[in-house]
Order: sequence, then C-alpha cells, then structure tokens
Amino acid sequence: MSRIIVAGAGHGGITAALYLSMEGHDVTVYEKQEKDSVGLDQRDFLDASALDFAGIKIPEEFRAPGNSITFVPLEDDVAPVTLPSAGSYENLSVNRREFLAYLIGLAEQEGVNFVYGAPVSGPLMLGSRVAGIEAGGEKIYADLVIDAAGVHSPLRKNLPEFLGIEKEPAYYDILHTYRAYFDRLPDVQTPDTPYNIYVKEDGTQGFRWAITEKDKVDVLLARFPAMDYSDVAQGLFAVSEFNPQMDKNLSHGGHFADIPVRQPGAILIADGYAAVGDSAFMTYPLKGSGMAYAIKAGKILADAAADDIDGLFNAETLWKYQHDFFKEVGFAACRLAIIKSILPYMTAGEINEIFKRGLVSSEELSMLAGGTMPKSRILTAVREKLKIMGDIPEFRDHMTDILGWMGRFASVEATFPSKYSAESLHKWALRYNRFFDSIRKPPED
Ligand SMILES: Cc1cc2nc3c(=O)[nH]c(=O)nc-3n(C[C@H](O)[C@H](O)[C@H](O)COP(=O)(O)OP(=O)(O)OC[C@H]3O[C@@H](n4cnc5c(N)ncnc54)[C@H](O)[C@@H]3O)c2cc1C
Repeated sequence: MSRIIVAGAGHGGITAALYLSMEGHDVTVYEKQEKDSVGLDQRDFLDASALDFAGIKIPEEFRAPGNSITFVPLEDDVAPVTLPSAGSYENLSVNRREFLAYLIGLAEQEGVNFVYGAPVSGPLMLGSRVAGIEAGGEKIYADLVIDAAGVHSPLRKNLPEFLGIEKEPAYYDILHTYRAYFDRLPDVQTPDTPYNIYVKEDGTQGFRWAITEKDKVDVLLARFPAMDYSDVAQGLFAVSEFNPQMDKNLSHGGHFADIPVRQPGAILIADGYAAVGDSAFMTYPLKGSGMAYAIKAGKILADAAADDIDGLFNAETLWKYQHDFFKEVGFAACRLAIIKSILPYMTAGEINEIFKRGLVSSEELSMLAGGTMPKSRILTAVREKLKIMGDIPEFRDHMTDILGWMGRFASVEATFPSKYSAESLHKWALRYNRFFDSIRKPPED
C-alpha cells in the first residue's frame, strides 16, 4: 500500500483517487475550500462519454434534454447559426457543486479521505523527486502527489525548473471569465432562441452568452484580456440590451474564473508527481470544457499507477499515463488548439464574413465544439473553406497557416516517444513547446 496525496478536489484528481483507493492505496485529497463551497456555483455541460470511459455511473438527473446553441454574429444583417440540438455527442447538464459532491461521495465510499480548508502551497522536494506537499504550514510526505489544483496550481508553479514542466500559460492560453445568474422577469419578451453566444463588440478577443432558463438568465463574459468590474458592468449592459427578460439583480454566481484554452502541457509527470485536468491545461481548446478530459485523464492515471506493482511512481512508471493520455485525448486536443490559435489573428470582420457566407455549418461547429471532428475531416474542411473564401486574402492566409501548422504538428506527433527515457521526453517537449510558441500570436500592446 502506498501513500497518495491529491492536491485539490479537481475532477481528474477525484477520479484517480477513487480507483487508487480501490487498489488498496491510502489516498487523501487536500482541498483549499471548505466542504460546502467546493466547485463553481454554476451549471455546465459535460460530455457523457467521459463518465462511461471512467466507469462512473451516470445518475439520471444529470441527463439533459438536447440543447441548441445559437451563435449571434457581429452585424445585425447576418443570420445567427443554431447548432443541432442532438449534437455528435451526449451532453449531461450538471450543477457543478452537486456533481463534485457526487464524485466525492463515490470516492469516500471507496475509502478516500478528504481534508477541507487545506490550501497546498507547494511541493516538498527530495532531490529530484516530488516527495510530498506543504499545506497549511505542514510538511506532508507521500509516495505519489497528484496535482489536481486547477489552472493556477501552486504545486505546478513551484516545481523546480529542471523537471521541464511548464509553469505559466501564455496570454492567449487563458480565457478570463465572469459568470452570473439573474432572475428572469416574467411577461417580458425573450429572444427567439434560448442559448445565445454573442461575438459582438469583442470580435476575436472574447465572447458573451446569455442562456434563458425557466426562471433565470445565465450570463457568461469571456475574453483574453484581463477583466475587472468595470469590464463586467459594460459586458452585462451589452448582454442585457439583447435580453430584456434579464433582471438587474444578481440571483447567484457572480464570480471570476480562468479557463485554459490551449494544448495540454508537454510534460505531465515527474518522479513522484502527475498532473491532471486544468493543472496540466487539459481542456477542449475551442470552448474550454475541461471536466471530461480531466475525468478521462484521472482514469488513465489510475490505470497506469495500478500497473506499477512495485509502487515506484517515478517518471518511468508514470510514463504510461502521459503516453496513453496523449494517444486517447491529448493529440486530438492539440489539433483543436491549432485551429483555436488562428482566432486571435483574425479580425472581427473576418469572423462576421464567415457567418455571412454560411462558411461554417452547424454540424461542423457542433463537431468542433464537441472535439469529435476527425483529423482527416479537419483538413478537408479547411481546404473547402479555402476554396469558398479564397477571394479574401487575409482569410486565405489564415487557412493556409492552419494547413501548414497541421503539417508541422504531424511531425511533432510522429516523434512522440514510444518508450520512456528522460532525454527523449525532454527533447520531444522542447519540440512540442517550440511548435506552439511559434504559432501563438504575441499579446496586443
Ligand atoms: C465559466 C466557466 C465555464 C465552464 N464551462 C464548462 C463546461 O461547460 N464544461 C466543462 O467540461 N468544463 C467547463 N469549464 C471548465 C472546467 O471548469 C474545468 O476545466 C474543470 O473544472 C476541470 O478542472 P479540474 O478538475 O482540473 O480542476 P478544478 O475544477 O479547477 O478544481 C481544482 C480544485 O483545486 C482546488 N485548489 C486550487 N488551489 C488549491 C490549493 N492551493 N490547495 C488545495 N486546493 C486547491 C480548487 O478549490 C478546486 O476545488 C468551465 C469553466 C469556467 C470558468
């Protein structure tokens, strides 16, 4: 039996904890929040296939009726695009706190211990090995530390440089968000469609949404530039102009949170350490959904750790986790990250033209949003768009860039090590990071 610490009650960490405890390990999760406030105060969609993959039973109340998302373009004379409600994958609709409480309950049944109000401040190092954590001024040792402390994980940030694990995301790697729920005013006309994403004003720097529910309006403001309360006021005002049914008073929520929208970290493991979920930047890069990838990663990590029968938990035995994660999820996420990387280069006018010419079909948007578009289909789609929009030089350049980037990335993917060696992993990570650095737009001044 080994002693395993999970830093942060993230989805991937809890999933790994559950299975590792079933394997007979002594697993403790250290979470900075108090029990009642773990998880975001919001409702989100979760790709059901992740729970099937992880062997986690789906309670019926999480199954959502089909949702139709409508993209409302920049100019009024351009028709909105509504995605098919069925989509190419099954979405669950989860109250985030209830969903985490469900996962935590399953883990507790398997013997996982949870310590709340315990902020982890960093790793404990013994030579090159992560040998534990510091939490609340205490030093706590373990055989394996799983980092599930989210996008700003202090564990990841405080790892020594020589481990090669990327510490800080770049400017266009993070969407800053504000999410709030407002009462829905009765007897006031609502927009024709209930779930509207506005690409107005912010152009390619962000978007806003308003989802009209039975008695609430769910508002999200999301953008790459940092956001403060004056930006929030401006954003809420803009959304309320299209949504007269939205009451001025906040019902609940009203919080800032950051979402990684990028490729997964190049190195997920070290001796005694593995990162899952947002702490390793594992989201669908085009929309920032990360629960599904985190849960899949947690299961893949638990499977790899179960194979480590001597309980070494070093980079060599944890390599199976990194390898299988990239094959199952990571490389597909990278291709979406490449498509996403073009957005900051585009002008709001170009985005508008895309909608105007009906360039992106609702089926394609749905597949891209769900991360279910196969590699071959991405390339065909880009070539088709190139033909249709070839008369706009900037757009032609952007599509040509995507094709070139996909080609260059294929050679990065091809050199992914099939077996572990520290040297080959670090060499590959350098290639991977250099590739993404080379396509990333520098931040605006
Ligand atoms: C506005 C918004 C909308 C989103 N919509 C969706 C969606 O529709 N679908 C979807 O799948 N995803 C969505 N996401 C993304 C999703 O929230 C994350 O990708 C997901 O939570 C995965 O993160 P995680 O499980 O890795 O960890 P997190 O959920 O980030 O959890 C990390 C945990 O670690 C704790 N923690 C942090 N620091 C410390 C510390 N120092 N010590 C101890 N504990 C610590 C935190 O309190 C938290 O409990 C959305 C995110 C936002 C902000």
